Formats: sequence, C-alpha cells, structure tokens
Amino acid sequence: MTEKRLLILDDDPLIGKTIGAIARSVQFDIQITLNAADFFAQLDQWQPTHIALDLVMPDMDGVEVMVELAKRECSARIIISSGVGTRVLDAAARSASEHGLPIAGVLSKPFSPQNLRELLVQAVSHPGAGIRPGSPPGQLGTDPVDITVAEFAAAVDNHELELVFQPKMHCGTGNLAGFEALVRWNSPKRGLLAPSAFIPLAESNGLIGKMTREVVRMALHWFGAGFQPDSNTNTDDSALLEKLTMSINLSARSLDDSEFIEFIVEQCKQAGVATSSVVFELTETSAMEDPVASLDLLTRLRMKGFKLSIDDFGTGYSSMLQLVRLPFSEIKVDRSFVMSASRSEESRTVIRSIVELGHSLGLQATAEGVEDEATLQFLRQINCDMAQGYLLSKPLESEQALAWGLKHLGRV
Ligand code: C2E
Ligand code: CA
Ligand code: CA
Repeated sequence: MTEKRLLILDDDPLIGKTIGAIARSVQFDIQITLNAADFFAQLDQWQPTHIALDLVMPDMDGVEVMVELAKRECSARIIISSGVGTRVLDAAARSASEHGLPIAGVLSKPFSPQNLRELLVQAVSHPGAGIRPGSPPGQLGTDPVDITVAEFAAAVDNHELELVFQPKMHCGTGNLAGFEALVRWNSPKRGLLAPSAFIPLAESNGLIGKMTREVVRMALHWFGAGFQPDSNTNTDDSALLEKLTMSINLSARSLDDSEFIEFIVEQCKQAGVATSSVVFELTETSAMEDPVASLDLLTRLRMKGFKLSIDDFGTGYSSMLQLVRLPFSEIKVDRSFVMSASRSEESRTVIRSIVELGHSLGLQATAEGVEDEATLQFLRQINCDMAQGYLLSKPLESEQALAWGLKHLGRV
C-alpha cells in the first residue's frame, strides 16, 4: 500500500471524481464514497492517510461525520470542503480541531484544482503544519488530580520546579530576540507536569508568590549566566546581548506582594541582568483582578526599567480597557489566532488588527504559536515585530536553550 491514500466523501459523484483526479495527479491512491455508511466501511478496511470531506450533504451532516471520526481517534489528515462560505468552514475546522482531529485544511467550493493540489502536497510534506489542538509538547502531565497544597509547597522548597525556555525572534531580520521562561514541575512521584496541572492550585492557595519567586530566581540566573556581557565580551557581542530579553510570566496574584519588586530588583543585581532586559507577561484576566493595586505595581515595575507584556491578547474581556489603562510595552497575540492563520482569513484579520492596535499605542507586537512558514511570511507582511512558536523552536531545557541561543547569535 502507498503512503498516500485519500478517502473521499461527497454526495456529488462529479465532485468526488474531480477531487480524485486531482489527487491522483499528485500520486495519491483514491477511493470515492457517496454516503456515510460506505465511507466508514472504507475507513476501517482501507485505512486512508487522508480524507476529503464534504461538509454539507443532503442526507447527512459532515460535522457529525467528524464527531464520529474523533470518537474513532482517526489519525488521517482531513480536508474539509463545502460551498457554505469560509466563516462556516473555519468554524467547522475549529470544532474538528477541538475534537482532536488533524485538519490539513479547508477548501471552499468552487475550488480550483490548484488550491486542492497545494493542500494535498502540503499535507504530505508538512505533516505537522495543519491545525491540532494546543497540547503541550512531549509527555507533560496536565491533570491536576489530588495534588495537595502541602505537597506542592514542599516541591517548591525542594527545587522540583524547572524552567524550559522558548526562543523568540525578530520577524524582519530573523535574529534572536530573547526567551520566554515556562515552568514545569518535575515531580519524582508524578513525572513532568505542565503549568496547567499546578498553577491554579498555587493561585488559589496563596502559593503563587512563592512559586513566582522561584521562577524569577531561576530564569534570571540562567539568563545572566548565559547571555549577559562580561569583561571578556567584545563590543559587537555586547551590543547583541544587550538587546536580548528574558520574558517571565506573572500571575496577578503575585502583584499584591509588596516586597516583590525589591525581590526582583535584587535578583537582577545578583544575576547581573539589566532590569530593561526583563519582560513580565501578564494575561488580560490576571491583569484585571485588583485594578488599583495592579496599576500601582505595574507602574512601579516600569519605573524600575522592567518591560511589561499583555499576554494572550484577544481572549479575555475588557482587553481594550487593560491595554489602554496599564503601562504595557508589548502585546502578544494569542496563539489560537496565530496557529490557525495559515488557513483562516478571519484569524489573519484579527492578527492584523491586534498588531495595528498595538503599534498605534506604541507597543511592540509578538505573535506566539507560529507553527508554519506561511504564517511567518504573513507576519512579516503586516510588520509584526516578533514571532515565537514551534516553527522556530519548542520550549527547550536550559542547557539546550543556551546552546540554541549561542548558535543563533553566531557565537559558537
Ligand atoms: P503562555 O504564556 O501563553 O505560554 C505559551 C504556551 O504555548 C506554552 O505552553 C508553550 O509551550 C506553548 N507553545 C509555544 N509555542 C507553541 C506553538 O507553536 N504551538 C502550540 N500549540 N503551543 C505553543 P505551556 O508551557 O504549557 O504553558 C502554558 C501556560 O502556563 C502559559 O501560557 C502561561 O500562561 C502559564 N505559565 C507557564 N509558566 C508560568 C510561570 O512561570 N508563571 C505563571 N504565572 N504562569 C506560567
Ligand atoms: Ca506567556
Ligand atoms: Ca500567551
């Protein structure tokens, strides 16, 4: 059997044949089915690598077919087609992706043979480039089952928290812009856990301040040891290094800790890191919690030279208010828009507007969750300042991230 088997479901035999002919021209084996029963029979027998699915058929519903595919944990990459218009198609693709289905792309009818050919070729050459649900990389545990407050507090004291670092680049030049620190809990008992497994617990039990201090300490130590100029650094390298930033996520609950600013200023001194190289990322919702206290603290942070970024922009409510009211220096476009940019006109429109909004307020714009080259091209076109995502690199362990950074700075 070849590696490229396309199973087509379309109630219109002519369209089925047309799709089939185009797929054959790019070396796919094909099977055409006209109804769901035949489709699922072929699915089991023939094990296609790809599926072309018509969304709207008179006697059945393409969305239901997708739900069934998800139940069967179908791993074939799916191209959804329909004449219903791109908004509906995009919504269907999103719903499929939320069900865990690998979507290769959407095709609005009438389509040109060229469109379909490109989708098929792309689906084979970049099997990772389609949309998939935003799961954390590797085998990270995300389930917050039965973690107790005491256990987590002890874990922080025992230095079981670790950081991974994800690089960020300047879209225009491709140069390294800096890194974002992302926390992991490497529990001897539970394995490696993602932040979603323990941050909510830390936030609601008064442990977030303790955790944040540990994160700040580790991030600045790593960054200071690897990426700060010292007396042996030549002038060119110093200029490069001075521009790099270390981004750290901050939960709003850390903001009511009045000694926090003194703590980070002190940590910067110890690590030899300039406060202007440090960016604190806040989510919209977290920035909102106590409006007055957060405004005070964030303003004080800025006055010390730290930079501030509004994270996951576009997902919360009241975002405009936050953006205008608080002293941010960067806006981060939420990855849900960016990950779908290459196949969704709507997402591209949202990204463009957020970048323009940021620029008009004098902020730098970063797109996170950049997974394919087409999206990076688009970001360059709209003058987005920075990009972060799997296309460039997944989050890396400290040693690897250091090596990655030095290589990209041309220093090794
Ligand atoms: P975030 O700040 O939006 O971080 C980006 C998340 O997107 C990370 O997930 C990262 O691994 C993932 N990601 C990066 N590039 C891509 C991509 O191209 N595609 C996809 N699908 N995902 C990508 P992670 O590490 O699981 O972190 C989840 C969230 O946990 C973070 O979202 C942040 O809100 C929070 N978090 C992480 N570390 C800390 C921390 O030290 N303190 C606080 N308060 N929150 C943290
Ligand atoms: Ca972040
Ligand atoms: Ca984010």
